[in-house]
Amino acid sequence: MIVDKLKHQSGKPLVIDVKGLKIGRGYFTVIAGPCTIENYNDLKKVAIKLKEMGINFFRGGAYKMRTSPYNFQGLGRKGLSYMKRVADETGMISVSEVISEEDVDIIKDHVDILQVGTRNMSNYRLLLKLGKVNNPIILKRGFSSTIEEWLLAAEHILQAGNQNVILCERGIRTYESYTRYTLDISAVAAVKELSNLPVIVDPSHSSGRRDMIKSLSWAAAAAGSDGLMIETHFSPDETICDSKQTIDLEMLDEIITGLDKIRILWK
Ligand code: PEP
Ligand code: MN
Repeated sequence: MIVDKLKHQSGKPLVIDVKGLKIGRGYFTVIAGPCTIENYNDLKKVAIKLKEMGINFFRGGAYKMRTSPYNFQGLGRKGLSYMKRVADETGMISVSEVISEEDVDIIKDHVDILQVGTRNMSNYRLLLKLGKVNNPIILKRGFSSTIEEWLLAAEHILQAGNQNVILCERGIRTYESYTRYTLDISAVAAVKELSNLPVIVDPSHSSGRRDMIKSLSWAAAAAGSDGLMIETHFSPDETICDSKQTIDLEMLDEIITGLDKIRILWK
């Protein structure tokens, strides 16, 4: 392994400050919200409900990387403006995916935390550009990438100048077809050894199944994850994207209520 020469192996665990809220070891960040932004009203409604539950980070895609070109591709710039408006109006921290180099400049001004999706983990030109912005970056693991390749991808952002990278395990492709991907829970333990970057888990895209989100979220917390990103909506069956894996607010509440009992193991 060549990861022992990386910048993010040395030093104490990185704690990232976003608008006064901290992400990293010793904190637990829950990011929730729809797969994609559908309209302003629904996004605002979800954000308000999350805030009432004590969640400060909301997500929603304006640019989507869909496997099929016939599926909804996202609202684009209009979605970004909704994201900013809702963040300004609620005081919440926004997370949204950047899918191409050319969108970085506009997204960085509309969204607090930029996400690199699984299909772009190895887009090194994009990573280089994200090394030049001030926003923290959530770097999802490529679904066919090793832990080493993932850490090296993070290194592209770090060496280009942006030290605020959050790793997100989102499942890898295996022979199992019951779940959409296979959540590699061991990656959480590995990354905590190999890197000082925060690591979070996405149980939604890894399983693709609403009925497994609670188990996987609690498993992630037990493994020592620094947070979760969960697709959530007040009416999951009506969402146009990833509804099968999107949970409702009641389920999210049940998950976060249980988390405290698990996190105590790491104190
Ligand atoms: C997402 O989080 O919206 C997403 C598309 O995830 P991934 O890149 O992991 O598939
Ligand atoms: Mn999704």
